Amino acid sequence: MNNDNSESTSYQLVATRLQEPVSGDKVRCNLCLWHCQLHHGQRGFCQAHVNRNGTLYNLSYGILSAIDIGPIEDKPVKHFRPGTTVMSVGSYGCSFRCGGCHNLEISWGVEALDELARGESTSAWVSPEKLVEAALRHKVDGIAFTYSEPAVWLEYVLDVSKKAHEAGLYTVYVSNSFVTDEALELMAPHLDVLCSDIKSFRDDFYQEICRPARVEQVLASIEKAHQLGIHVETRTNVIPGKNDDPQELRQIAEWIAAHLGTDSPWHITRFFPAYKLMDVPATPSESLWAGHEVAIAAGLENVYVYDDKGCDCATTNLPLDAYLEGDADTLHEIKKCSENCCDDEGILLKKYERERVN
Ligand code: SF4
Ligand code: SF4
Repeated sequence: MNNDNSESTSYQLVATRLQEPVSGDKVRCNLCLWHCQLHHGQRGFCQAHVNRNGTLYNLSYGILSAIDIGPIEDKPVKHFRPGTTVMSVGSYGCSFRCGGCHNLEISWGVEALDELARGESTSAWVSPEKLVEAALRHKVDGIAFTYSEPAVWLEYVLDVSKKAHEAGLYTVYVSNSFVTDEALELMAPHLDVLCSDIKSFRDDFYQEICRPARVEQVLASIEKAHQLGIHVETRTNVIPGKNDDPQELRQIAEWIAAHLGTDSPWHITRFFPAYKLMDVPATPSESLWAGHEVAIAAGLENVYVYDDKGCDCATTNLPLDAYLEGDADTLHEIKKCSENCCDDEGILLKKYERERVN
């Protein structure tokens, strides 16, 4: 299976990078810890990968939902190349379903991914080469994969990151860290910075947003990234009544100090009401500073409190064509797969096609 799609000139389904056959037409995806096992016609939890005749494909290779340029400190990353700028990009799809997510259309992207699956999408398609060219044209220092979970379009993230490094740009991965060791190992040589959420220190919190997730899995993944030599910074969005107990925040800080080092930066951000948590008030300053206090007591040296900042939100970005070459019409042509990997009917398909092919 050809894994290098970086020279492609038009939209196509791209074979999922980490997949293994299970039995018959069933295939397991090993990009994130869902390890979805899919039959022909089925799509994974993230909706971005589909089984077509016993092979998994990524629907979202090269598909951009958002793009923006700003300081690396906004990711938030404070201890890697401070004062430099990054081009931030995201696609569609996430491995979590956070009740307070601010970017539903982008992060879950169910409608956008359904359109891609039906061959009716007009989302912008940008080759890795064009994206790196755009970054250089705008004179940024790095590229950040954010807004949606990078693991669920790793094929593209990987190809862009390789080209970014060749061009002298650094790479940043803003993640929920519900990813496999294999995915991390694949990315590690091409990744400079991981900014990871530690959303809570309680399994019940994680299971509310992602049924199979356990705290220890997320922490193990973050520690693995650190061991692989990636610069790691962590972030916790403090939500009133959900994860704002100073005792829990202290446990997070103690874990960071013990496993990433007392100098490892921890970012404490403010929750703003959204989606299912519209009735939860914005985090009061006192809760954020209580987190700061317990973190300092736990020995952390670099703790940053953001009274004004929530998750890495893409809602105020300029239109994509403000950054990319080509007008809106060119960027937003209908996307039909240019390959015949999935037969002549186009790329797909219903969400859960029942037909089996053996
Ligand atoms: S990346 Fe998507 S398809 Fe793959 S295991 Fe994760 S949720 Fe499932
Ligand atoms: S808050 Fe982040 S991890 Fe949670 S659903 Fe939104 S994009 Fe995914």
